[in-house]
Amino acid sequence: MSAAEYPRHGFSTCPHDCPSTCALEVELLDEASIGRVRGARENDYTAGVICAKVARYAERIHHPERLGRPLRRIGPKGQGRDAFVETSWDEALDEVSAAFAGAMQRHGSQTLWPYHYAGTMGLVQRDSIELFRHLLGTSRQHSTFCITLADAGWIAGTGAKRGSDPRDMAHSDLIVLWGCNPVYTQVNVMHFVARAKRERGAKLVVVDPYRTATADKADLHLMLQPGSDGALACAVMHQLFADDRVDRDYLERYTDAPAQLEAHLLSRTPAWAAEITGLDETRIIEFARLYGDRPRSFLRLGYGFTRSGNGAANMHAVSCLPALTGAWRHRGGGALYANADLYGIDQTLIKGLDVLDPDTRVLDQSRIGDVLCGNPRDLQGGPPVDALLVQNTNPVAVAPETRKVLAGLNRDDLFVCVHEQFMTETAAMADIVLPATMFLEHDDFYQAGGHTHLQVTRGLVRPYAECRSNHQVLAAIATRLGYSHPGFELDARALIDDALRRSGLPGEAELARARWRDCSQGFEGNNYLDGFATPDRRFHFRPDWRRVGNDVENMPQLPDHVSPQNPRDAGHPFRLVAAPARQFLNTSFTETRSSRLAEGRPQLLLSPLDADTLGIADGDLVRIGNRLADILLPVKLFEGLPATVVVVESIWPNHAFIEGLGINALVSAEPGIPNGGAVYHDTAIWIRPEPEDQHA
Ligand code: SF4
Repeated sequence: MSAAEYPRHGFSTCPHDCPSTCALEVELLDEASIGRVRGARENDYTAGVICAKVARYAERIHHPERLGRPLRRIGPKGQGRDAFVETSWDEALDEVSAAFAGAMQRHGSQTLWPYHYAGTMGLVQRDSIELFRHLLGTSRQHSTFCITLADAGWIAGTGAKRGSDPRDMAHSDLIVLWGCNPVYTQVNVMHFVARAKRERGAKLVVVDPYRTATADKADLHLMLQPGSDGALACAVMHQLFADDRVDRDYLERYTDAPAQLEAHLLSRTPAWAAEITGLDETRIIEFARLYGDRPRSFLRLGYGFTRSGNGAANMHAVSCLPALTGAWRHRGGGALYANADLYGIDQTLIKGLDVLDPDTRVLDQSRIGDVLCGNPRDLQGGPPVDALLVQNTNPVAVAPETRKVLAGLNRDDLFVCVHEQFMTETAAMADIVLPATMFLEHDDFYQAGGHTHLQVTRGLVRPYAECRSNHQVLAAIATRLGYSHPGFELDARALIDDALRRSGLPGEAELARARWRDCSQGFEGNNYLDGFATPDRRFHFRPDWRRVGNDVENMPQLPDHVSPQNPRDAGHPFRLVAAPARQFLNTSFTETRSSRLAEGRPQLLLSPLDADTLGIADGDLVRIGNRLADILLPVKLFEGLPATVVVVESIWPNHAFIEGLGINALVSAEPGIPNGGAVYHDTAIWIRPEPEDQHA
């Protein structure tokens, strides 16, 4: 590319862990620099709209603190960049390979745990670590940070992780945003809400334990107790039956046990649910009637309300609603949680499914603290984890039970390699840190959770300094250790091509040119009018929970309220919700100045009523805690909260908190049921005013 061809525009896809997976137009200033990023106007989901943090991506990709060269730690763990010296790629990879080989010689290959998550959602750069695991026979990973509880609850009823086309929200008469805050976390949804309101006079209902920026725009905000969503859904269903606002023909043709459900719900009255949810009974009835009167009602279900020990039961209960009213029959009706099962991408080569040994152990990523600290329950009779390779995630800030995570990473006999873009708190614990490319610097392809487009993208700018992609690094380490596999011999572009062709789709070049492919199954397919994806093609009010998990003893037979895992007790009278902040995406963007400035500082949102009871004023410092830890942070009085519910928007790094310990120190690593899953919003705490003289 000659200099004369700049500036120009290139096309890409947002790789971040966000259902919107926006199609992007990127201003290219030269072969290594970008300017403004915009949403692609031609994409009918993105429709030219993206969030502010990605619009100013130049700040992140050209950040002065971005890692550019391999680093070896020579100082104390946790100190940061000053504890490292630069080294060459050859020396770094030799050291990593030698450490991995030594650990594997001592304990076998399962002592190595390649650990990843969703720092990029690209199917090559995120998932090729699976090939590395399978090829080397290392410990595998149960990925439980985000989707596990929600997946189990949704799939229990529908049989597949897909749903109504979100563009159909424009045809809705009622949109219910349940447990999500799209103004912060998937801005495009609000575009379709606005259209439905403008063009059809649609109503918006938001179900959320606090008055989010999205709830601010609602016609009805149901501000319920965290973890009580199953009770609300049951009471709405009770009222729908009581008012005869159910579609009995649909129930007969498309569902498994409508008569048992009706009988079961007789006792799940709005009064019963009012006790559990903290909502006024009349508000529950108002919502049920809004829902029952509008067949074109669209449920957009988020992850928030599932991040609780009872989250799968809650998701299943809520997902029953459109099957009662037959909303699935109507354009603009139905429900969407996520669309991962829409695309059918064959990732055999990318993930090395041909070399997978199903007997290798699977370790729970949310329990990394217990794993590294050698909890026998987590090690499952296998060797200790003496070697860790981390890509795409920052468990020191993200994983539950921070103190245990830090204790594990502090082990002198643990070798840690982190492949990262910035000196995160996890990278600061590593022995070797390798610099990683960002999405505009490598090839990848993306399937959207929140819409129906598959997107193929090519790198647009030269990788910064000596940065290498995830796939390149994994291939290099595997090769040094003497392993070979076609998935590590091909480059990313060839792997994309292979996966697309195996899946019966056009190849990489054609889709890269087209920019995206709409994989919608059409209205009938998306709305399961040709049958649900269960064995009997019916929606299951009475699910076989064993199809989605093993820990089924306490799962309800029919939709119901299940107690949260960590309810209030006398010593812990408050419930804590650790919700996402607008300007961060997990811990991504916590490094950019504009995001940090906009967010200010970590603070506890507390209702004025609770503040009065505790004798606390706006801006006061309080200590909040439970059996796991206690942390110190300032209070912000906030009216939009039920009494005894508090919120900390994050994920701020630990070091942003006054005493260097962040919010996830208070979150239990005990898995939800029936298939595990982190319980980020299922936490009981105490709150104590902090005497001023302690922090003068
Ligand atoms: S809204 Fe989500 S997908 Fe779109 S640009 Fe922002 S983070 Fe990326």
